[in-house]
Amino acid sequence: MKPRTKMIHAGITGDEQTGAVSVPIYQTSTYKQDGIGEHRGYEYSRTGNPTRHALEELIKDLENGVSGFAFGSGMAAITSIMMLFNSGDHVVMTDDVYGGTYRVMTKVLSRLGITSTFVNTSDPDQVKEAITDKTRAIYIETPTNPLLKITDLRKMKEIANVHNLLLVVDNTFNTPYWQHPLDLGADIVLHSATKYIGGHSDVVSGLVAVNSEKLAEELHFIQNSAGGVLGPQDSWLLIRGIKTLGLRMEAIEKGAKDVASFLSDHPKVEKVYYPGLPSHPGHDIAKNQSDGFGGMISFDVGSGEAADHLLKKVRYFTLAESLGAVESLISVPAKMTHASIPKDRRDELGIADGLIRISVGIEDSEDLIADLKQALER
Ligand SMILES: *Cc1c(COP(=O)(O)O)cnc(C)c1O
Repeated sequence: MKPRTKMIHAGITGDEQTGAVSVPIYQTSTYKQDGIGEHRGYEYSRTGNPTRHALEELIKDLENGVSGFAFGSGMAAITSIMMLFNSGDHVVMTDDVYGGTYRVMTKVLSRLGITSTFVNTSDPDQVKEAITDKTRAIYIETPTNPLLKITDLRKMKEIANVHNLLLVVDNTFNTPYWQHPLDLGADIVLHSATKYIGGHSDVVSGLVAVNSEKLAEELHFIQNSAGGVLGPQDSWLLIRGIKTLGLRMEAIEKGAKDVASFLSDHPKVEKVYYPGLPSHPGHDIAKNQSDGFGGMISFDVGSGEAADHLLKKVRYFTLAESLGAVESLISVPAKMTHASIPKDRRDELGIADGLIRISVGIEDSEDLIADLKQALER
């Protein structure tokens, strides 16, 4: 199946019993048993729910995995994956990882004895150096947020193989339409489905796919034990969102390329971060491991004041955290998504006060460019 056909026909489609073309929302917590222990595949909705199951089959197929899982948020998915590890275990992670991921590792899981080291994973040598005899996994985001740094997933797989580590990839930014980490050797791929997969700014959710029966069993045990599952209504919204994921990503990327090239030529913009630009240091690797460059762009306008000014002037970019929706969103990472990262660490990472991040939506790019133009020039 080609990618856009897959968005429609993969996983479980419709309802066998009634012929309903749309998977029904099974809004139920429990299931009648025909006799004690005699059930029809479902006992209790934390353990399994048919609508959630249809979504889990779908993400499994989209990521070419063995099994899929749906959680109540991206963070619930990440936390559940980390529960595969034990006290004393160590994880090497991308340094400009999502702020919430940094927070759960350094403020919550660290208390339980799961430690982490953050390095620039764009440089494989830094990953090698960070590995200790306690290391169990390499955890990668590519592209990253907000600097859109690219990590070579095939190189990460080579390192993981040498040290017998799990390779975990947060694929939120590129989506299963553009990038397939499991095909490149990852063991676990996850998404904040709140973003592109849902795509309409109306649901918070997380999705995971794994590449082995063993991991599938372990993660299902944790999902059922810890209980951070996605409800049937929200599962249905994601199935609906995925149907147009391919169309949206194509439109978003076209817009992003137009906007990135406009920003690159603008005198008031000091720097543009977009992996689709040939000048981006990760451009060739991105091209090699993904089918597209996505819709996230960051650019530096030089100061916090200049950033504030621009934010007040834009009309089509909604000032909001989050990303990946049909409407274009704008944010200042230093004050919003990355505020939970201490200032000295932000400076270390290069997340300047004048850095603006945009998530390009599906509007006409002429309108988006005209909007940015007037906001930059006034
Ligand atoms: C938003 C986000 C998360 C967290 O997901 P939630 O759905 O907000 O819990 C994790 N990783 C990345 C890259 C994200 O953008």
